[in-house]
Amino acid sequence: MNRILIAEDEPRIASFVEKGLKSHGFATSLATTAQEALQLALGGEFDLLLLDLGLPGKDGLEILEELRGQGAQVPIIILTARDEIQQKVAGFESGADDYVTKPFRFEELLARIRARLRQSNGGQAQAQESLELLAGGVVLDLRSRKAKIGDQELELPAREFVLAETFFRHPGQVMSREQLLDRVWGYDYDPGSNIVDVYVGYLRKKLGSHLIETVRGMGYRLKA
Ligand code: CA
Repeated sequence: MNRILIAEDEPRIASFVEKGLKSHGFATSLATTAQEALQLALGGEFDLLLLDLGLPGKDGLEILEELRGQGAQVPIIILTARDEIQQKVAGFESGADDYVTKPFRFEELLARIRARLRQSNGGQAQAQESLELLAGGVVLDLRSRKAKIGDQELELPAREFVLAETFFRHPGQVMSREQLLDRVWGYDYDPGSNIVDVYVGYLRKKLGSHLIETVRGMGYRLKA
């Protein structure tokens, strides 16, 4: 099991990331100050560090420099606001491996984490992970980002593909609207929105109406 250290002081983002990672089988620890982040990361118990550049106590770039200066090898993905380009550039110079811009969708963060872990595991994780997901006669090809039904190939817009992928990764499991919003649209989305229902409608039209069931009062489920 991969262990991820989340260094983030904003409770909403921290819990969104923590919940998501736990549900995908990661072990997580949380640091909410610069001091905690340094202490835990230097303890060497983690496979990856998610580092918010705006932690109380110390500038994020100083944390990066201190970690690398003390020989910490852990892969680091920095979390930064969209307009802080300067910080990103400086972050790479200070030893970050990748960055994700806030606000982000969970699936986007997950993809970056997986890519980073694959590199540090020398490609083993990639070999284990299937690149096609299957349900109800529909194949989702994660490389080409296309859906296939028999010989027919279907192009799905990015958001629809991510929604489909989320269902296909949890066959038979009831997913609430809130879970789907979190994973596909990100934490910044209005929870009162009906966008999930609209997009489930798009998927039913394209992939077949039988595939995704409505579970009254709870959400949606991909037929296993
Ligand atoms: Ca912060």
